[in-house]
Amino acid sequence: MKKIALVLACLLAYMPLLAWAQGSTPAVAAAIEELVAANRILAAQGILPGYGHISIRHPQNPNRYFISRSLAPELVTAGDIVELDLDSVPVSSSTPRLYLERFIHGEIYKIRPDINAVVHNHTPTVISFGIGSTPLKPVFHMAAFFLDGIPIWDYRDFGTANGALVDTPARGAGLAEALADRPVVLMRNHGVTVVGSTVPMVVGRSITLELNAEIQSQALARGDEIVYLEQDEESPGSAFDRSWDLWLRQLEAAQDD
Ligand SMILES: [Zn+2]
Repeated sequence: MKKIALVLACLLAYMPLLAWAQGSTPAVAAAIEELVAANRILAAQGILPGYGHISIRHPQNPNRYFISRSLAPELVTAGDIVELDLDSVPVSSSTPRLYLERFIHGEIYKIRPDINAVVHNHTPTVISFGIGSTPLKPVFHMAAFFLDGIPIWDYRDFGTANGALVDTPARGAGLAEALADRPVVLMRNHGVTVVGSTVPMVVGRSITLELNAEIQSQALARGDEIVYLEQDEESPGSAFDRSWDLWLRQLEAAQDD
C-alpha cells in the first residue's frame, strides 16, 4: 500500500510536467489560468450567475479556443477547461458535456481575428434593451467602447423551433455576422455577447455594459431627457487593466477566506 501511495504522490507532484509533455506550454497554462479567474470574477460580479460563458483564443493557435465544459462559471477550475476548434468541435476525443451555445465563440473567432476573448451572458438590465424600441447607448465615459451602436440579433430569423438559443453553427454564424466589427451584439429575448482583444477588456466591458444599462434605465424611468456620451470621448481606462488587478486581488482574498 505504501508503494501505491508513493507512486500516486509522485504522479500528482509531476502533473504539470505531464501536461507539458502532452503539448501544454507556459503560454497555454497562463491563458487557462486567466480564463479560470475570469469565470470566477464574472460570477462574483453577477454577470455569469450559473449560466453564460467566457472563452479565450488559443495563444499559439488562432484556429482554436479554450472554454469550460458545461458548468456554472463560479465552479470552473483549470481541469474543466476544454480546447475546441473554430467549428466548436473538441480537439480531444474524450470530452465531457459542452455548452450548447459554444458556437457563439467559434463563429466569432472565425471572422474576427482582432478578438481574443468572448463573453455571452444574460444580465437582466441589458436584456431589457433587447425587447423594446429604446436603443442601449453610452451614458458615461467608461462605456465609450460602444459609441458606434449595438446591433440586435433576432433568433426568429433562424426559425423558432429551437427557441432563442444559439445552439447550431448556422445560428452562431448569423450572430457573428450581426456583430460584424462591433464590440457588442444584443440577442433579442435572450442576452448579449461581448468581445475584446484581451480577457480583462472583455470582462470590463461586460460589467460596464450592465452598469450603463442600469443608469440609462434609471434616467429613462424618471422621464429625463438624457444627454448621451458623444463621439470621441473614449476613456484611457478602456483596457480595464487597473480594474482587472483589483478583481484578481478580490478573488484571491475570497479564496483565502
Ligand atoms: Zn444564452
